[in-house]
Amino acid sequence: MPYSYEAPVSQTLFERAAVVTPGGVNSPVRAFQAVGGTPRFMVSGRGPYLTDADGREYVDLVCSWGPMILGHAHPEVIEAVQQAVARGTSFGTPGEGEVALAEEIVARIEPVEQVRLVSSGTEATMSAIRLARGFTGRAKVIKFAGCYHGHVDALLAAAGSGVATFGLPDTPGVTGAQAGDTIVLPYNDLEAVHEAFHRFPGEIACVITEASPGNMGVVPPLPGFNAGLKSACEKNGALFISDEVMTGFRVSRTGWYGIDGVKPDLMTFGKVMGGGFPAAAFGGRADVMAHLAPAGPVYQAGTLSGNPVATAAGLAQLRLLDDAAYAKVDSVSAEIQALVTQALAKEGVAHRLQTAGSMFSVFFTDRDVTDYELARGQQSFRFTAFFHSMLAQGVYLPPSAFESWFVSTAHDNTAIEKIAAALPAAARAAAEATEGKK
Ligand code: PLP
Repeated sequence: MPYSYEAPVSQTLFERAAVVTPGGVNSPVRAFQAVGGTPRFMVSGRGPYLTDADGREYVDLVCSWGPMILGHAHPEVIEAVQQAVARGTSFGTPGEGEVALAEEIVARIEPVEQVRLVSSGTEATMSAIRLARGFTGRAKVIKFAGCYHGHVDALLAAAGSGVATFGLPDTPGVTGAQAGDTIVLPYNDLEAVHEAFHRFPGEIACVITEASPGNMGVVPPLPGFNAGLKSACEKNGALFISDEVMTGFRVSRTGWYGIDGVKPDLMTFGKVMGGGFPAAAFGGRADVMAHLAPAGPVYQAGTLSGNPVATAAGLAQLRLLDDAAYAKVDSVSAEIQALVTQALAKEGVAHRLQTAGSMFSVFFTDRDVTDYELARGQQSFRFTAFFHSMLAQGVYLPPSAFESWFVSTAHDNTAIEKIAAALPAAARAAAEATEGKK
């Protein structure tokens, strides 16, 4: 197997894992299938670094897919967690920590008047959609091709782009009935949204979109797109749901909402707000949230929702995320972006580096990427070569060309210098890559 020689302990662990776990991982993208080779089994993280089971250290540009915005093992977050753990790990009753975390979210994000805590982003979007359906009494949901909202059955439909159409399930196990009320439209295409509302009058419960997509690579909304969605929803009696699981508390103190100011009816959060623990949330208009049990009839629950350790970690992290912290991640990100572009340009590699606040990704294409089809049109074999060169030189990138890169406040000059030192060879590898060669 290519690259496996570089990580013998990880390779042994991966083989062991594959016996007891499908594909050897607990979340598919961790398996390196898109880039080939052996996934690195990490044993520890500190600041901007991860250390794998073979004892190799990497500058981490994945940050656990977003949550670790203060870097790994931040002392104040760890301290908060240790104190919470010492008091007990789950009570199955209300507790003050979850109130404090909800208050922090409500204080930061103006459209969120009330919030319900859950344990994953998937749960947040699933529950928000159920609530939108319960509130409006309508069944259909509009989503956009290339937007990922977790593995909610109804939202795994991504087929049918180009026209307003019934979604076809994208994965075995999702039935036509589960996906049949999902309308999948091309991203950034307001005309398609208007057509769908026209075609299904009084049937569409909500439009859900990533506030600024990061799951097809970083593809920000075109100017006016989110505002257009909001007004189309308003006009047609549907709810506008902005999924900020990835962007929330990451791209600014108030997430993408703080950047474009478009006020959703409901919002979903996860990742950063959990401080590296399973905590997520959905919230929004109080009159809509009032439909949730036990205040209202729409059922939603969770044994570990508002878990005291997770809420302590999340609260500690959010409280450390002041304007200075966001200025720091923005400047780290801008520095790395400039280095990546310079290195690729020097080797003559056609690319587009696209950003959403401090989130960014590189598309190996010479066209601006505004939707999923354009994202898929890139030369991802160049990313594969680039990725493996960076990995071999101790820089850990997301193992897919269709993911955002993430930085933290802990990425200091030493970490950035390591990235800078690795980039020339990686850019050369990307330039020399040919299709079909991993
Ligand atoms: N929504 C968005 C925008 C996401 O990026 C993700 C995960 O990457 C989810 C929802 C699902 O979150 P989780 O993986 O916590 O279920």
